[in-house]
Amino acid sequence: MKSKIKIIGCGVSGLSVGIILSENNYDVEIITDQLPEHTTSAVAAAIWFPYEVKPKALANIWSKASYIEFLKLSRIANSGVSMTTLTVLVKREEDAWWIDALPENEIRKASAEELPDDFPIGYKMNVPLAETQIYLDFLLNKFKTLNGKVTIRKVESLDEFNNSDALLVNCTGLGSRELINDKALYPIHGQIVKAKPQSEVDCIVADFTFEKSDDRLAYVVPRGDCLVLGGTAIKDKEDTQPNPELTKEIVERCTRIEPKLEQVEIKSVHVGLRPGRPEIRVEREGRIIHNYGHGGAGFTVSWGCAQEVKRLIEDH
Ligand SMILES: Cc1cc2nc3c(=O)[nH]c(=O)nc-3n(C[C@H](O)[C@H](O)[C@H](O)COP(=O)(O)OP(=O)(O)OC[C@H]3O[C@@H](n4cnc5c(N)ncnc54)[C@H](O)[C@@H]3O)c2cc1C
Repeated sequence: MKSKIKIIGCGVSGLSVGIILSENNYDVEIITDQLPEHTTSAVAAAIWFPYEVKPKALANIWSKASYIEFLKLSRIANSGVSMTTLTVLVKREEDAWWIDALPENEIRKASAEELPDDFPIGYKMNVPLAETQIYLDFLLNKFKTLNGKVTIRKVESLDEFNNSDALLVNCTGLGSRELINDKALYPIHGQIVKAKPQSEVDCIVADFTFEKSDDRLAYVVPRGDCLVLGGTAIKDKEDTQPNPELTKEIVERCTRIEPKLEQVEIKSVHVGLRPGRPEIRVEREGRIIHNYGHGGAGFTVSWGCAQEVKRLIEDH
């Protein structure tokens, strides 16, 4: 008989776990209060990059494992995943702690001519990019094709499953603050601007913060349907209303790192709360396996963490 698994949460973490376990002959149900399009995962720029995620050593291992899976997905026409050249600006070479997460032949130092003025140090790398609206749908459909079941309801307490013989996988992101009272979790406010696509614009991320505050970012991610311009990383800010002043600043900062941006035509502005935590929690606690707290890198580490969940189930 197939072992039963109940996954709570249907963002990128829950779906990746759901697919890996269904493919390995488990009987899997996802229980969620929101479908993917209404999750934090839907707001992400969804470029492969280990940003704001700890511990660094494990983040590198999980990011590398995910890279391999995303590379395979990029060869599937309707997955929403493609490979793209990303320029990453750093203040100092030693800040590039994530170098080891990439295959050696997929990263090199950028020359000064390849970088914007005032930003002399950077890398060029070939990385996966997920168009969230396509990719999350693709994952959900794949999960259902593998006979995965989705039930829409809020789980008020894990005690609801005391009489169940299923193993539980907790993929609730920031929801674990309420569900299991995890006080280590905190929101990291992220505002992004979706603008009309422009040709010739580079995919570029500044891996440092701007101005005097330590929570203002700059990244430009060209996608098929729009340009994603970011962003912010404001700790403990719960407000999900887009802020016009922040929008203006985001466009200004993005134009500094990508001067080829012309008159930006804004289509929409979105805010998501990243599930911040001093460390990602992928851990087994009796018959519950936790997988949450992926900060600003939930896509980047998704497959690596899902493989770790499977290992924790099978090694027990
Ligand atoms: C602006 C922004 C840009 C980002 N850019 C990137 C990027 O470029 N690359 C990258 O790798 N990452 C990026 N991220 C981070 C990434 O989006 C998150 O790390 C990731 O989405 C977390 O996914 P998750 O599935 O763990 O959580 P979520 O997407 O939040 O999903 C949690 C799920 O749990 C469900 N849930 C919660 N509580 C309960 C409950 N009690 N009962 C039932 N269901 C429950 C929710 O409904 C939801 O389905 C970005 C985030 C933001 C905000």
